Amino acid sequence: MASARADAKGRAARAPLTTRNSVSPPDSSNDRVTPQELRHALEAGGHRFTTQRAAVYDVLAASSAHPTADDVFTSVREQVPDISLATVYKALEAFVSCGVARKLSLGSGPARYDGRTDEHEHIRCLACGRVQDIEGLRPDDWMGGLADMTPFHVVGYRLELEGYCPDCVH
Ligand SMILES: [Zn+2]
Ligand SMILES: [Zn+2]
Repeated sequence: MASARADAKGRAARAPLTTRNSVSPPDSSNDRVTPQELRHALEAGGHRFTTQRAAVYDVLAASSAHPTADDVFTSVREQVPDISLATVYKALEAFVSCGVARKLSLGSGPARYDGRTDEHEHIRCLACGRVQDIEGLRPDDWMGGLADMTPFHVVGYRLELEGYCPDCVH
């Protein structure tokens, strides 16, 4: 229904809109769900709850680094040595599809995953690639004026701030 290219800048986007910020108020989800809530969310979305998926979720929810699937795989393998990258990847995608995680497509690198599902924006270091949350930035505040700028029915936006982190700035 909604075109994946309907973001405010008109740029082509690879990720479906559901992985992005929504203009309409999102569920005010807590950062982290309990194992029971994870099971319910997965099963409600037609996904299986497994102990391996619970372990993947624990790693993601404990990280504020916005890890890639590879990063999560490296960490979760310390607790679950026989887990495969494919299992980790499918688990992450299942979390995104049932709303307990977000998928971020920032820059040109691989997708990153975020255990935080509440509304927040990101800044990426152009030197080392680090991604951090930005608190308190509320683009929704000015989204209301969009009707005067475009005839499109806007359903989402992408915002990616770039700069140099304290370790990389000269
Ligand atoms: Zn940096
Ligand atoms: Zn984040």
